[in-house]
Amino acid sequence: MSTQTKELQLKGIGAAPGICIGKAYIVDREGVEIVPKYFIRAEKIQSEINRFKKAVVDAKKELQQIIAGMPEDLQHQTNILETHLLLFDDKMLSGRSIQTIERDKVNAEWALKNVVGEIKSMFQTMEDSYLKERVSDIVHVSDRIMHQLTGAEQVKIADINKRVILVARDLSPADTSQIQLERIMGFLTDMGGKTSHTGIIARTLDIPAVLGLANATALIRTDDILIVDGTEGVVIVNPEDHILVEYEERKERYEAYRARIIRESHIQARTADQEDVVVQGNIELPEEVVSVIDNGGDGIGLYRTEFQYMSRATFPSEFELFDSYRDVVEVMFPKPVTIRTLDINGDKALNYAGNGSEVNPVLGLRAIRYCLQNRDVFISQLRAILRAAAYGNVRILFPMISSCNELVEAKAMLEEAADSLEKDGKAYNRDIKVGVMIEVPSAVVMADQLAKMCDFFSIGTNDLIQYTLAIDRGNRNVAYLYDPLNPAILRMLKHLADEARKADIRIAMCGEMAGEPIHVPFLLGLGITEWSMNPHAIPVVKRIVRRLSAIDARQFVEEVVDLHDAEEINRRAEERYGVILSNGSTQESS
Ligand code: PEP
Ligand code: MG
Repeated sequence: MSTQTKELQLKGIGAAPGICIGKAYIVDREGVEIVPKYFIRAEKIQSEINRFKKAVVDAKKELQQIIAGMPEDLQHQTNILETHLLLFDDKMLSGRSIQTIERDKVNAEWALKNVVGEIKSMFQTMEDSYLKERVSDIVHVSDRIMHQLTGAEQVKIADINKRVILVARDLSPADTSQIQLERIMGFLTDMGGKTSHTGIIARTLDIPAVLGLANATALIRTDDILIVDGTEGVVIVNPEDHILVEYEERKERYEAYRARIIRESHIQARTADQEDVVVQGNIELPEEVVSVIDNGGDGIGLYRTEFQYMSRATFPSEFELFDSYRDVVEVMFPKPVTIRTLDINGDKALNYAGNGSEVNPVLGLRAIRYCLQNRDVFISQLRAILRAAAYGNVRILFPMISSCNELVEAKAMLEEAADSLEKDGKAYNRDIKVGVMIEVPSAVVMADQLAKMCDFFSIGTNDLIQYTLAIDRGNRNVAYLYDPLNPAILRMLKHLADEARKADIRIAMCGEMAGEPIHVPFLLGLGITEWSMNPHAIPVVKRIVRRLSAIDARQFVEEVVDLHDAEEINRRAEERYGVILSNGSTQESS
């Protein structure tokens, strides 16, 4: 029941455009973190111990079932999980939990939580990195026991069965990717920024979202009526009647405008002075291909393959991967599909990947670094990509390359994967274009060398800005600094475009910068004319391209690229292109 009846307006970061009106549904993603403490009477201690032992047995059985279901080509993962099996009987974990129940006369959950806390602090002071790593194994095992004890089913977003607007403290990319479009009308989070992966998925799903609201979960109750304006980043809680009517009208206007621009989006994006631009879509899951096609995308410029590895207990098999890639490639044919290899960790951790907990995961064993150290995981994916390439137009893209050596190693592994397919007599295509994601500043510095070793660059501005300007892309407190038109970023883009031109390789952009109307004249003027973005942005961007002149954009870039002030650059863009941009990207225009 709603407890909040007075109208309230909240301002956050508009992460996915559009308006939705509906009832709130609060999800608490803290799961079993909140562990109750209660005392157990002396005569009940034994039954509490038995309850704990049963939870251990059940958790162990659950894990044994997972291991039995592991595909053969991922046997190396079985080893990690088998180590976990041994830990269930470890005296340090189970033995000490039982002792704590007896000694302190407390419930099993509380005892387990405290023992894990003690183990964590004991291990973390150790020098030995191997032992330190074992903490994460113990945490995995204790989580499984805790779930058995509390019976705590974390809210499964996929199971929500009414049309609601989700309100959460934070949603992981894995949570967001489970959202069922027919159920979830929009979502709000306390945390997050525009280029966080949660924001990116909201845009791909094409549902209005406002992130970084700070205290939405404290102020909103389940069943409160909400208006979410994802374009403006505004949320109105329990709106008055006249506001509700106003937003119903705005929503209708917005939807009519979208339908109009989508119709013209299937035509080539050509500037007023006849230069062509390639406007492609980014996807996270195979199902999203439909959205790229519906919005008139010229191909898939970024397939973020890691999402297929989320919301599951083990690595997908080579066949599962191949099967998904082939679907995407066949549906898009003859248009190209750029498959990016696994970019896990950072904010996209897999709990079964077994690389322990990292203090600073964004600078840790992420993406290509993880793949080069986990060769069988990587080879399995590379084989799947090469096999899918036999069915259409595939390019491969390596994420987070920060040195030439990493590219050399990754390419050698691609060759190795191709050789193994040859030996196995499987259908595959080894003749595919190899691209490097430019998202680490060192790759910009080394662009001339990298350009000699690959067929194309794809600029990942989301991370490039994060790493260059030292701004956590998911942190709302520093979101105000996150400006792709920061002169340091513009200079980097210019350098990359120049180096790509010198080496005669293609240069694309697949970061969120590419999908923002204000950036279109800059990219055009820099000569970066292959863009990939959330599918929803394609129609607006194509519409703006048609209203611009490439020659004029080049002159404009020359004028602003040496300025030192981001505000001044933004002001000049507004002055020169404000009218074109607002006519191209608002519902008011025809
Ligand atoms: C980027 O960093 O710009 C990018 C496209 O990759 P992701 O957003 O998946 O990190
Ligand atoms: Mg990235």
